[in-house]
This record gives sequence, structure tokens and C-alpha cells, in this order.
Amino acid sequence: MAETTTIEWTRNDDGTPGKTWNPVTGCTKISDGCTNCYAETIAERFRGHAAFPNGFDVQVRANKVNDPLTWRKPTRIFVNSMSDLFHNEIDQAWISDIFGVMAAARRHTFQLLTKRHARMRTLLNDPAFVTNVRLRALGKGLPADQWQWPLPNLWLGVSVENQQWANIRIPALLDTPAAVRFLSCEPLLGPVDLKQAVRTMGSERGHGLTASYVHADGCCRKFHGIDWVITGAESGRKARPAHPNWFRSLRDQCAAGNVAYFHKQNGEWADRTTLTGDQRSAASIWDEKRVTYVHPHDGRTQTHGQWGINDHLEGWACVQRVGKKAAGRQLDGVTHDQFPKEP
Ligand code: SF4
Repeated sequence: MAETTTIEWTRNDDGTPGKTWNPVTGCTKISDGCTNCYAETIAERFRGHAAFPNGFDVQVRANKVNDPLTWRKPTRIFVNSMSDLFHNEIDQAWISDIFGVMAAARRHTFQLLTKRHARMRTLLNDPAFVTNVRLRALGKGLPADQWQWPLPNLWLGVSVENQQWANIRIPALLDTPAAVRFLSCEPLLGPVDLKQAVRTMGSERGHGLTASYVHADGCCRKFHGIDWVITGAESGRKARPAHPNWFRSLRDQCAAGNVAYFHKQNGEWADRTTLTGDQRSAASIWDEKRVTYVHPHDGRTQTHGQWGINDHLEGWACVQRVGKKAAGRQLDGVTHDQFPKEP
């Protein structure tokens, strides 16, 4: 498990790579985005080796918990790239300890991403948990007058692979104290309307993507809204293709809402064209064996040979498997590389 990472969104402002920190490894699948989990693939490949004696079983690595305290140079750190910190098999005392490290290692910026939004929300709103984090942080060397909650150097994110999970996880994130909130829409498996997700919180509350939103009781919340959106398609052998319009839509929603936007990768598939009307002739100029078509709304795919003579092709994307490197990370010829403003 290399500590230095090439993950683009963990890069430091000066262009140097950030780090991963895995005080816990192992996980279990919980939603559609987990189907081809890269962490599971790696951990199971090395099951029985020193790095992963128990494969992808959940385990706390006590000898790793304090690592960031020993890293002198300020850096961005992706927490638990090989697990999910809010997994129910991880004892709450360990989670407090890991938060205590993040509080005490103030020089670093931590990026914590979860699909376990419910436990995240419950714990981070629990005064007893916060007290425990504070005590651990002081025990690890944080001067008492520097204690702050939410942690100013923690970016908290949830995974959003489609509208269903947007509607569930985004409200949970907005209900959780955080200095910076972000969405990782990767692998994106369907279109996502961010405002629809925010609206599920109630019409009095979800009126915008950024800055404040209003409680049902009318008081203004001090926390920010969504500060950063990352998009990306799936990579790997079994990668599911994304419709490029899903990325375009989130790009445009972020631009309209003044939210920082980062497009990480196009995955394994390159966009050939989005079909209009009955554009069969355009589609058929490519090698029919290597292209597939992606439905704009539900993401289902089909090959050229599966079209019926009367099928309507409007809106389907024609994509070709070209490999992650060739597919690159540009969207309509532009690299989207924004990071959120630090508090
Ligand atoms: S939550 Fe993350 S680490 Fe856990 S199985 Fe899903 S993708 Fe893998």
C-alpha cells in the first residue's frame, strides 16, 4: 500500500502528489458503485501476503493509526482508500482515535469519503463522540486553544453514483458538520440532478447547492452546502461505460451553482458521439464489435447488433473501449481541475 498516491484529486496545490492513509482496510459492498470495487480486487489478489493477511476482511491497522503525525510536510491525505471508515465493523473508539489524529495533525488536509452516510451523520452529530475526538486530539499533542469542530482540515465526502444515492446521501452530508463537503460521483452510473437531491430535504431547506441553506424551522445553518464535485467513469477490466452527458450535466450544474468541479477520468471508454434521431449510418462507420451504446437515463447498454429496425436511438451515446490512458480525463476537450476553497 503505497502512501504516495497518483489519485488526481488528492494532488497538492503545488502539483506534488498527495498521500493515502489506511488505518483500516477491508470492507463489504453496499451499493451499485461497489460492484467492481478496486480495493477488493487488490486486497483479494494479495490475500495471505504481509500487506493483506486477511484479504478484504475489515481490520484496523493499529500500527498505521498515528502515521500522519509523523509526516512533517503538509500534504493532502485520502483517508481509507482501501476501506470505508464508517463501516459498522469498525469500533467507534477507533473512529474517534482516527479523528483525533486528523485533529492533531492540523498541518495536513484530510479527504474522507464514505458510502456509510448514516453512521457518519449520527457520529459526527453526537456530542459524546465529539468529546472523545477532542480528548484524543489533545492526547496526541493538539494545543487546547486550537481545538475546532468541525475539523477545519477535513473535507468530508459521500459517493454518489446515481440519482437514488444522490437523494439519500447528499441530504445526510448536508446534515453533517464539515468544513468542506464534497461529492465523489465515480463511477457515475446514471444522470444526477443535484437540486432534486437537495429538494428531498424539504422545500423550505433545499434551495441551493452552495453556501447556506435554511432549516425547516427557518434558522440559518452555519455550515456550507456542497463545495466540490468530482466526477469519473469506472476503470478496470469490468468497467461499465458512462454516458458523457451525465458528466456534462454535472459540469454545468456546478458552473451554475458556483461549485468547484473536478473531472477525474473517462474510464475505459471514449465517447464517439451522442446519437440523434436515427443516426445509424454514423454509428456503423466504427468497428461494430468494439463499440457499445449507453442509454441516457438508465445507463443500460447494448451492442450494435441488438438494435431492432424500429428502435429509436435518440440520446444514446456511442462509446468505444480504448483503455483508461487513451480515454483520458478531458471532457469536450477541457481538463476540469478545480479544488474547493479551504476554510
Ligand atoms: S464502500 Fe468503497 S471500499 Fe467498500 S466495497 Fe464499496 S467501493 Fe469498496
